[in-house]
Amino acid sequence: MIELKTPDEVRRMHVAGQFVAEVLSEVGRLAEVGVNLLDLEHHVRGMIARRGAESCYWDYAPSFGRGPFRNVICLSVNDAVLHGLPHDYVLRDGDVLSADLAVGIDGWVADSARTVIVGDAAREEDARIIRATEEALEAAIAVARPGNRLGDISAAVWAVAREYGYPVNTEFGGHGIGRTMHEDLHVPNKGRSGRGLELRPGLTLAIEPWFTQTTDRIAYDPDGWTIRSADGSRTAHSEHTIAVTDDEPLVLTRRDGER
Ligand code: MG
Ligand code: MG
Repeated sequence: MIELKTPDEVRRMHVAGQFVAEVLSEVGRLAEVGVNLLDLEHHVRGMIARRGAESCYWDYAPSFGRGPFRNVICLSVNDAVLHGLPHDYVLRDGDVLSADLAVGIDGWVADSARTVIVGDAAREEDARIIRATEEALEAAIAVARPGNRLGDISAAVWAVAREYGYPVNTEFGGHGIGRTMHEDLHVPNKGRSGRGLELRPGLTLAIEPWFTQTTDRIAYDPDGWTIRSADGSRTAHSEHTIAVTDDEPLVLTRRDGER
């Protein structure tokens, strides 16, 4: 069942979204050369505890994982792109780090992800794929308006991927969100405009383009969680939680200073 949220419920999701944004801003500042992923995990745990928020990841045990997950953030490095299990790894110059976070505050959830390059040794192809996921996300958000259809969001993501020449894997995509992290409605990163559910005010979605440079196939680490590009090519992931309104879409997880 797809539940449309009232303006007050959207406002409460926005509170969670602003906290998620704050944490991801902090992770971006802290992700420097020499920092261990486990230190990032512990820092985020502290922020969540101090805020009185609830991690959506802790004890999460979906069918695909080797659950339960015992971390509060997903940290995926280089060819890893989704569900990266924080582990004992020290960030190096030029690493590509994707951080994905979902938390609830007072029963309402927001989910967001960003990808950053660590240090100064950014490779142009890495900056390019990050830019592509960010542009795809913005293009998708721009069409999240009443009267448009779910397929318009998928088509917008796919169009940017095509423009950049990145293949799109469709095993994981966006989703409905609100009282829980994953609610009904799958938001594929590939699709046809004009198709699918009609978008209505109160619909809340996590939109999350993730691209890999040269393959649409993925591989799982032995940890059962971390998903990598099958050919080891680098990756990027950008995600926001948004609400369809009567007017402009509302981005509930927008970070300060983000374009
Ligand atoms: Mg996420
Ligand atoms: Mg998500």
